[in-house]
Amino acid sequence: MARNLSSSCKLCRREGVKLMLKGARCESSKCAFTRRPYAPGVHGTGRPPRQTDFGKQLREKQKAKRLYGISETQFANYYEKAMKTKGDSGVNLVTLLELRLDNAVYRTGFAKSRASARQLVSHGQILVNNKPVNIPSFLVKSGDILTVRENKKNKGPWKELSEELKNHVAPSWLTVEPGTLTVKVTSLPSAEELKEAFDPKLIIEFYSR
Ligand code: SF4
Repeated sequence: MARNLSSSCKLCRREGVKLMLKGARCESSKCAFTRRPYAPGVHGTGRPPRQTDFGKQLREKQKAKRLYGISETQFANYYEKAMKTKGDSGVNLVTLLELRLDNAVYRTGFAKSRASARQLVSHGQILVNNKPVNIPSFLVKSGDILTVRENKKNKGPWKELSEELKNHVAPSWLTVEPGTLTVKVTSLPSAEELKEAFDPKLIIEFYSR
């Protein structure tokens, strides 16, 4: 898959929001957006240009795409799927993004960023219903059980994770058992829980032009 390789911190500064792409560093005083909360480049500190409606829609789409770390094509496919599903298309779009396996692993607290979560999945460390799944875009569904490969549980960072997870607040659609590193997807995320750093309505408008 084509990946955006520009500096993660520049993406936050470009979008004017913390996209939390670098795990623990994002919470620290080293965060580049905290230190320089303006767009990168020589014009970054000047007055921001007036945005057209199209410009606003484009920025929201870019923000969401970068937040979840997915390609343009994949994002457009999610839009198509959201439009074909009954209900509010904006809510459908965010639900699809949230149900990606790499995102669910991130939300549980198993990884500090979506990029790390994606790596865990691609390296086959996560089981879904006791079967290894190494596809980050795999969509979890209500009732699925996620866990860590048995032979990895007592190794490396997994060993300390159980303690850390006790202080992690996962969304209500995921029930995490820190002791066994097991997660149950108890429901679909509710619309209230889908409030993200972007406006899905503007993204739907972007693709509907
Ligand atoms: Fe964004 Fe994290 Fe970099 Fe801060 S540290 S600018 S939140 S990626």
